[in-house]
Amino acid sequence: MDDATGGRKRILSGMRPTGRLHLGNLVGALANWRALQDDYDCFFMIADYHALMSEYESPGAIAANAREVLIDFVSCGLDPARSVLFRQSDVLQHAELHLVLSCYTPIGWLERCPTYKEQIKELKNRDIHNYAFLGYPVLQAADIVLYKANLVPVGEDQLPHLELAREVVRRFNSLTGAHALIEPQAKLTSSPRLLGTDRRKMSKSYRNQIDIAADAETIRKKVGSMITDPKRIRRDDVGHPDVCNVCQYYKTFAADEADEVAEKCRTAAWGCTDCKARLADLLIEHLREPRDRRAELEADPDRLQAILADGAERAGAVARETLREVKALTGLGGW
Ligand code: ATP
Ligand code: MG
Repeated sequence: MDDATGGRKRILSGMRPTGRLHLGNLVGALANWRALQDDYDCFFMIADYHALMSEYESPGAIAANAREVLIDFVSCGLDPARSVLFRQSDVLQHAELHLVLSCYTPIGWLERCPTYKEQIKELKNRDIHNYAFLGYPVLQAADIVLYKANLVPVGEDQLPHLELAREVVRRFNSLTGAHALIEPQAKLTSSPRLLGTDRRKMSKSYRNQIDIAADAETIRKKVGSMITDPKRIRRDDVGHPDVCNVCQYYKTFAADEADEVAEKCRTAAWGCTDCKARLADLLIEHLREPRDRRAELEADPDRLQAILADGAERAGAVARETLREVKALTGLGGW
């Protein structure tokens, strides 16, 4: 036990409050985060500044979505007693460090970032040609180093951002000569990439998601609308489970049934309707605990406020200390 964290390594990760979280967020992030709490000192952030960068034209929903994300966090097992759950804009030092690190970030690094180029091309319904969006990875770097996080759980798609954060840290450390900031490492998660009802990657922006908070009726309706094997048209056509998204869901949510279901598909013992009805039942059961916990939290707004206040306090204590060091190294503040 060599420090306040009991010598455990520190992790930071976050979610943008752009809507309720969905099954993709659950299997791709939250389930991993929940497990990481056993071995790491965890900071989980509701990244509302990051949301504003793309939602600035109509930011009205960000605050309510932040509440939804906090409820999803807690109802999926992120434990406010063990981990620090906080909202980015509650800790001023994110904005402050972002500005300092932006001085150490050549514009070319940002313009060349593959995720930036991709988003500019893909996001047609938003104007993200703003100054802040170009600097998205700089704020991410600030989020991470503010807490001296050693590890960041990321999917492969996020690797370029983490590499950029590491380069900014190296540049800052070498120019200030003090090695005050910790270079974060990626903690790659081997989690499945869940497809949505339309077989594209499940994503809030594609509206093909099944929310963690969905009620039984909505789950049945959404599962009913899932695209299956396009070659299976009539009930007695045999199916191809390897290309069917519904069959893939069994692998993710009910691995012990997956082989049997695939066989029933391949032999047409089951039609897609049978297969979907069973999957809907399984998902309803899988989401029962989060749904019950959500109901409790929704009935107790004071508890939600208390979790945020406590998170802001604990995150702020670490962040203030880092900023004190950074300012001393960069000629800001007292002489
Ligand atoms: P947006 O449409 O605003 O991009 P999103 O629904 O794609 O939202 P993100 O905020 O991009 O969600 O992702 C949050 C986290 O959830 C990330 O760690 C990401 O890897 C994970 N995630 C998102 N969608 C999926 C998915 N379909 N399968 C697995 N993991 C996912
Ligand atoms: Mg996304």
